[in-house]
Amino acid sequence: MPSGDELRRILKRIDGRGYKAYGEIRGQFELSGCCCFVDHVQGDPFAAPSKLRLRVALLDTALSSDLFENPVRGFALEDWLARRLRASIGNHTEESRRSDERPTISVDAGGQEVLQRTAVVVTADWVEARLEVNLPANGRRILGRRAEALLCDALPRLASDALCQLPPDDARRFVDAVENQEDLRSRLASLGLIAFVGDGALLPRESGASDRPLPADAAVPFVAPESLRVEVDVLHPYEVNGEVRRSVTGLGIRRGVTLIVGGGYHGKSTLLRAIERGIYPHIPGDGREWVISDGQLVKIRAEDGRRVEQVDIDSFIHDLPRGRSTGAFDSDDASGSTSQAANIVEALEVGATGLLLDEDTSATNFMVRDARMQELIQKRHEPITPFVERVRELWETFSISTVLVMGGCGDYFEAADVVIAMREFQPIDVTAEAKQIAAGTAAPRRNEAGSPIGPLSARIPIAQSFDPSRGRREVSIKTRGRERIEFGRTDIDLRAVEQLVDASQTRAIASAIHLAATRFMDGSRTLAEALDEIDALFDSRGLDELDPRHRPERHPGNYARPRRFEIAAAINRLRTVRMKQRR
Ligand code: ADP
Ligand code: MG
Repeated sequence: MPSGDELRRILKRIDGRGYKAYGEIRGQFELSGCCCFVDHVQGDPFAAPSKLRLRVALLDTALSSDLFENPVRGFALEDWLARRLRASIGNHTEESRRSDERPTISVDAGGQEVLQRTAVVVTADWVEARLEVNLPANGRRILGRRAEALLCDALPRLASDALCQLPPDDARRFVDAVENQEDLRSRLASLGLIAFVGDGALLPRESGASDRPLPADAAVPFVAPESLRVEVDVLHPYEVNGEVRRSVTGLGIRRGVTLIVGGGYHGKSTLLRAIERGIYPHIPGDGREWVISDGQLVKIRAEDGRRVEQVDIDSFIHDLPRGRSTGAFDSDDASGSTSQAANIVEALEVGATGLLLDEDTSATNFMVRDARMQELIQKRHEPITPFVERVRELWETFSISTVLVMGGCGDYFEAADVVIAMREFQPIDVTAEAKQIAAGTAAPRRNEAGSPIGPLSARIPIAQSFDPSRGRREVSIKTRGRERIEFGRTDIDLRAVEQLVDASQTRAIASAIHLAATRFMDGSRTLAEALDEIDALFDSRGLDELDPRHRPERHPGNYARPRRFEIAAAINRLRTVRMKQRR
């Protein structure tokens, strides 16, 4: 392998030349203490950054093998290393950067959630960091000396500071914390729970635009009501204020139907949002480390304007005006209620075990139809069977749990197993009271559901309806932040897909759609079966498989793992998609 001196010689030689000459540094170099792979060199200073990998020997990192002895510990350690690199990069390079310049070096590290990602790879022999680097230029001329300082001096220093001689306790605390969360998640079902909210958790966030916790002096810590409190052992003892704990207590949300009520601004939505995000482990200090949800819970909301393709929403919406059928419902512009019904059916189609709904983001006519309205508008003129008529049946017939925020209407009291009231940001068990009120009310609303929920339909996606081409490019798939995918000439709008948390998940989804369409949608596999294949691929080979130009030596460094529900959500929102039902 050529040495760092060789790299210095090349950079001196191409100093001042046109940017294209940077192409000469492609390849591998042995720098002091680390190996540098230059996989991709950007074509000009304004193009997407160059891609490099830094590899150091595991021995030099001083990481012990128990830190990555199973998949959960492995992805937690990789996530921790990416965060450490990001912090170190700040120390090394930011001082020379003007605010309008792009970052010189960057690594794709995470936010409040800990995700399986491709930014760092740990093996039994080495640790590899995947970086994006903007090679320095003046206009379109190569700045060879600055490139030399960056590649030959700053990079080895970064490798040594961020990846070598690591403080073993820091890594272990992080990895143990993540494994504790995943361990409890894996035991939820056997405890009869779909979610757990630990005593002392800090649920509110800093602001609508920030995912960081509200400062501890402003946030009211969560305390479970005595009657709903559970205590569970943890895998690794952990410390709270210097005291070692071997178990954790908190609110156990049981399988079945749970209703969250309470006055406006008393913290209902904040609790539900924490449960939505509780499908992912959180970093220590987030405040939601002990908010643990079943990984198959899906947030459901109204989303008028979305496209819907061949979805059987008949159990919720039946006999539309002008005799329009809803057994295979299509729309380019669904209404609030039809979009919410489609969101439910689509989630169940790919394996959701529970639904999360908030009145704030639901269509009112989808949620309730009260006694007075039943008087005024006869059932035969109302296509909607509201969710209140179905929520019990979903649980009793299909074992689908629901957690529902509903502060404005008491019609759900009968249907709920547990009713939790939020008062001054604290939960209170009001189940008995609510049941009493429901039993004592005169002239309750009539049940109008009529026929039971039909068998779940499965849809087979048509591969030809996934066209990633644009102009002369055969495959043009881009993402814009977390919320948008440009799939060929079509935009996929993911704003309403609320459990998608990271732009790197969106990138992975964009690639996964193409991969699924080209490899797994053969006209016989259902959407759920195609997603089984994707999940199996992620489990066995990791996310690197997603790179369309995948070669062993060229790793994508900016993917994070999405759930199947969010991949399905993106496919269902691709406006060109065609599906056929299989019964
Ligand atoms: P609701 O859905 O009941 O109307 P929200 O959950 O939207 O109420 O909360 C209202 C406000 O209170 C939000 O600004 C939220 O950040 C804040 N909040 C929620 N829970 C807490 C808490 N535990 N401590 C302090 N502030 C909180
Ligand atoms: Mg609310």
